[in-house]
Amino acid sequence: MEETKTVEASNFIEQFINEDLENGKVTSIQTRFPPEPNGYLHIGHAKSMYVNFGTALKYGGKCNLFFDDTNPSKEKTEFVDAIRADIHWLGYEWARECYASDFFETIYEFALKLIREGKAFVCDLSAEEIKNTRGTLTEPGTESPYRNRSVKENLKLFQEMREGKYADGEKCLRAKIDMASPNVNLRDPVIYRILHATHHRTGDQWCIYPMYDYAHPICDYMQGVTHSLCTLEFEDHRPLYDWVGITLGFDPKPRQIEFARLNLTNTVMSKRYLKKLVEEKLVHGWDDPRMPTLAGIRNRGVPAEAVRDFCSRIGVAKANSECEYSYFEACIREYLNAHAERAMAVIAPLKLTIVNYEGSEELDFEINQTDENAGTRKVTFGKHLYIEKSDFSLNPPPKYFRLKKDGYVRLKNAYIVKCEDVVLGEDGEPAEVLCSYVPESHSGNDTSGIKVKGVIHWVNADTAVDAEVRQYESLLLDAEYAGQDFSERMNRESEKIFEAKAEPYLMQAADGTAFQLMRTGYYKKCREGEKLILSEIVSLKDNFNKK
Ligand code: ATP
Ligand code: MG
Repeated sequence: MEETKTVEASNFIEQFINEDLENGKVTSIQTRFPPEPNGYLHIGHAKSMYVNFGTALKYGGKCNLFFDDTNPSKEKTEFVDAIRADIHWLGYEWARECYASDFFETIYEFALKLIREGKAFVCDLSAEEIKNTRGTLTEPGTESPYRNRSVKENLKLFQEMREGKYADGEKCLRAKIDMASPNVNLRDPVIYRILHATHHRTGDQWCIYPMYDYAHPICDYMQGVTHSLCTLEFEDHRPLYDWVGITLGFDPKPRQIEFARLNLTNTVMSKRYLKKLVEEKLVHGWDDPRMPTLAGIRNRGVPAEAVRDFCSRIGVAKANSECEYSYFEACIREYLNAHAERAMAVIAPLKLTIVNYEGSEELDFEINQTDENAGTRKVTFGKHLYIEKSDFSLNPPPKYFRLKKDGYVRLKNAYIVKCEDVVLGEDGEPAEVLCSYVPESHSGNDTSGIKVKGVIHWVNADTAVDAEVRQYESLLLDAEYAGQDFSERMNRESEKIFEAKAEPYLMQAADGTAFQLMRTGYYKKCREGEKLILSEIVSLKDNFNKK
């Protein structure tokens, strides 16, 4: 096999890996992405995948999908399936799929080995007692009275634990390390607990389950993981990770490297909180477009490329920080600006009639002006149009360049029109604007000599289709509420629905297609029954910085 070469390091993880390659500690690179199947993946996991899959790819190595299923009461097959789908959507391919539960027997045997070597003991203290004898950051802990049980007795008790002789919490297996260690994680940590629970894969085969800190280094080693990349909260656990590897004689011992979690302003990613939103029906489900889950982001219409681009731009750091949500939006906008077709829809329609125009004509419309290969398509123009209510003003403020009485404006890709009159409805609000058009002002061939400052979009009333437009705001109110309970920070009006008029072209597009609705934003097209739905992916401008 060809030797793996060092790469030009773009972060500290790659520097460490390069060192390990140069020192001959490893000859090829393997990582793993280790979700716990107790919920849906979120945008933070995208960063973890970017780091794990991305690093392996860069070195021509492998990345496994490793389900950390040591916690049977919370795990479900539904989540396993959703996690797989989300990884594929993001564009990653794992080398091998495995589960902590695949290694339960091996993990058990390693525990026997620890017991035989006098490095683990069965303890009868309750969880509460263990906590109370752990000591503090400044004071050592107290040794368990069961610490010096004989190997023989420990083997017998551990065997009985496995056989189901004891109730949950009645006994546990602890590593025998050092109750005076400055690192609390090394103070005889619990490595097995009794839990009479049905596991989503192993059923009732086991009633003892290994703890994460003990199982993870074993699973990494068994898979051939060379670099176990995880988030910073595991930094204090690394001495225990190393203790397990060294004590069990792993060679080569996998190396754990920690990096900063992704935190986004105004966004809570914890599964507990997201689950609460779903269970209390504050959102439509795990894939609600407002959710920071990957299923939600995908359903929102965000392209996977934009998510990967975001992850690559935020980089991999050793210190925790918070990233502005608007930065994520900027990445989405940038991608869609380059890739999304343009179309027109009017969200709050106002009738506009061109009194001196008869018939209809097909106008050229640029599919995407940022892409010279995108070409044009036809849009039907006619006498009866809709414009946005907000593009006409009865009492225009100074510098109002859109439509006003006796004012001129250009209709996007079409003609300049002049507002001749306005018909008011019973409520005193404009119900219809009557305009004349300037025949010589055809877009691209304007000989009228009239200079207009405003360009507004429109749809043809005779061919328009009804659409439901959905717009979204953050689920949480602004940062000024930070620190308050989420229930007080909930934005209860984060979904807004409008009845709109849209070009018929939108109806023909494949469901899921992203469009730039001109002057409005990026929207995903879909259908519910016969109804056209346009749901907001991201606004056209950065609302965050505008505020
Ligand atoms: P949560 O706290 O949201 O439930 P978790 O850490 O319990 O997340 P896991 O399923 O254990 O979720 O996560 C799988 C991997 O993804 C872990 O290595 C974890 O460190 C990483 N990860 C989770 N959240 C983030 C985040 N915000 N940024 C980067 N990596 C993350
Ligand atoms: Mg976790």
